[in-house]
Amino acid sequence: MNQMPKLVSVVIPAHNEEDNIIVIVDRIEKVFEKLNYRFEVLVVDDGGTDRTLEVIEELARVKDNFFYIEFSRNFGHQPALKAGLDFAKGDCVISLDADLQHPPEMFIQMLEKWEEGYDVVYTRRKEDKRLSYKKRKTSAYFYKLLNFLSDIELEPGTADFRLLDRRAIDVFKDFKENDLFVRGLVKWLGFRQFAIDYIPEQRFAGASKYNRSKMMRLAVHGVTSLSIKPLHMAVYLGFFFSFLSLLYIPYVIHALCIGKGVSGWASLISTVAFFGGLQLIILGIIGIYIGKMFMQTKNRPNYIIRSTNIDNIK
Ligand code: UDP
Ligand code: MG
Repeated sequence: MNQMPKLVSVVIPAHNEEDNIIVIVDRIEKVFEKLNYRFEVLVVDDGGTDRTLEVIEELARVKDNFFYIEFSRNFGHQPALKAGLDFAKGDCVISLDADLQHPPEMFIQMLEKWEEGYDVVYTRRKEDKRLSYKKRKTSAYFYKLLNFLSDIELEPGTADFRLLDRRAIDVFKDFKENDLFVRGLVKWLGFRQFAIDYIPEQRFAGASKYNRSKMMRLAVHGVTSLSIKPLHMAVYLGFFFSFLSLLYIPYVIHALCIGKGVSGWASLISTVAFFGGLQLIILGIIGIYIGKMFMQTKNRPNYIIRSTNIDNIK
């Protein structure tokens, strides 16, 4: 048997990760030394302000299995991931964060499962006691909310650390969604999926790019890109309160009959305020979806490439 070993692409989105790139590439190489695969590393530089680009350009000069894509500006983690999947050439692609929270040593296990015939091997972060209480809680609530509000069951602790078979990537490449939430889309794809639990490591260097407002945005974004269930809920809520207000009418008539017609200002103002607020919320929900449709009709690309060393991109 003199078959060429399969090619594994490792995709790393990086935004201001100058101190992490060398270390992670080194660890990835160590892992593949023990394995019988060919591999390539593809780093997507997502419009950072530090020396990340210089570091990866230098790596590309000295290594022939190292590729990079430079974005024209910061487009975000999800578009960077998409770009990596779009241009990776491997028979499978493993994506992971640049900050070493996702240990490359797990590739071995992931590739084993892939060889067993799974098309998607994803990872589940176990409760990490070292993570801040706030981070753990926000993450837990994020998934609770997401599952409650959408039609897809996402599991807590699944991040963008996964292996995708060429089959799944080719389908994903054709997605023209403006609004990417890769985690949800991968679950939606189906195929044969397998989960591996792991304990994440500490961020090696630099700072997390997800602050509270970004987390919040990801949550709203996650829900509204996965389903239109919130619109349905708005309708149910509408029905519920219309029914409730029906009960109010007999009371009003009764009050009129016993000559108490003008009192009740407080209850009036509070109901007006309450329904005013409710309508605004629902209008907002509808607005988000209309906004998404607006963005989608423009049909803009998910990202713009400024430079790269991959030859099949013009
Ligand atoms: N990232 C990116 N663009 C961004 C923000 C983050 O490409 O606008 C990358 C980042 O470099 C890292 C990954 O996405 O490789 C996850 O980001 P981070 O570690 O900050 O998130 P956390 O682990 O704190 O959720
Ligand atoms: Mg991180």
